Amino acid sequence: MSVFLTKEKQKLKAYTPGEQPKIGQFIKLNTNENPFPPPVKATDFVSQIAKNCHFYNDMNCTRLTEVFSKYYGVEKENVIFSNGSDEILAFCCQAYCDSEKGIRFPNISYGFYNVFANLYEIKSVQIPLEYDFTIKISDYFNSSETVLITNPNAPTGIALTADEIEQIVVNNPDNIVIIDEAYIDFGGETVAHLTKKHKNLIVIGTFSKSRSMAGARLGYAIADKELISDLNRIKFSFNPYSVNAMTQELGAISIEEDDYFKDSISKIISVREDFVAELDELSFITLPSKANFVFTKHPKISGEEIYNRLKDDKILVRHFKDDLISDFVRISIGTKSEMETLINSLKGIVSIK
Ligand SMILES: *Cc1c(COP(=O)(O)O)cnc(C)c1O
Repeated sequence: MSVFLTKEKQKLKAYTPGEQPKIGQFIKLNTNENPFPPPVKATDFVSQIAKNCHFYNDMNCTRLTEVFSKYYGVEKENVIFSNGSDEILAFCCQAYCDSEKGIRFPNISYGFYNVFANLYEIKSVQIPLEYDFTIKISDYFNSSETVLITNPNAPTGIALTADEIEQIVVNNPDNIVIIDEAYIDFGGETVAHLTKKHKNLIVIGTFSKSRSMAGARLGYAIADKELISDLNRIKFSFNPYSVNAMTQELGAISIEEDDYFKDSISKIISVREDFVAELDELSFITLPSKANFVFTKHPKISGEEIYNRLKDDKILVRHFKDDLISDFVRISIGTKSEMETLINSLKGIVSIK
């Protein structure tokens, strides 16, 4: 840290992302990436787009917006894109929260929320989950703060129904309710369509997980057009060009190649279900997941030990040191063969206990 950093920023505690080792060193099940690459048609196209990189990219993401809004059944003015959904989350924090209007979210959820609250000097109110790691929706009714919920939640993987989310929205007529649907395609119920009915609802999504584009950085929000215009005001005050030309085209083709997308999702869901059954056999306790990861613990082996032993076997999973969840590891769903290797490794770990 230099002596020039401002006092407030000296206090910042930055987000700690999961490890990103060189590709190929580990079976990588620690950051919820999709094990399948984007469709070949999309990646083939990128070099053509790159040839025009001497010109600025389309700041309105015109083609992507057209393809996306048609697919999701919304109007163009109900959509905004960003450099990953973390960026949209930042825009929402800047638009709808400050030191007076705080932000309310579960105490176990995506680690970035707290980081943004600190960065933007927002008062954060963190609500404990129930003993079974579920969210009690009435904890969010008539909140004094902007409400932010990940659905399905991370790292638990547990989902609320669309109906439950709607109750939170209806019971917050004076607040913005932000639903982070980063994992929605793996089995949850989206509430994107409810943005037509409720002018205080923002649904955020990402192409990083279900659409195999983590490294291309593409996120979006769907909301009433006045809210989208607020978010565009922030975006265009910060970086109008934040979604690069290659990523815009990758995103559009990803939506057009719908069969490929649906096929990879259904593979991941089916591998997840088989994997959970295998974990059961090894006496693991696994929370019911609607995401492309599972949150699981073993009655006899600590989360940290499982993490370390798997790492010795060249398999990376995620372990969080937070006391509330330190018994658990979060395991992303990879390919069938990756999960078989993992199960074999877990069998070895469990057998010596
Ligand atoms: C991965 C993730 C994001 C961020 O995704 P990017 O689009 O890659 O920035 C947002 N929210 C949750 C809950 C996530 O797990």
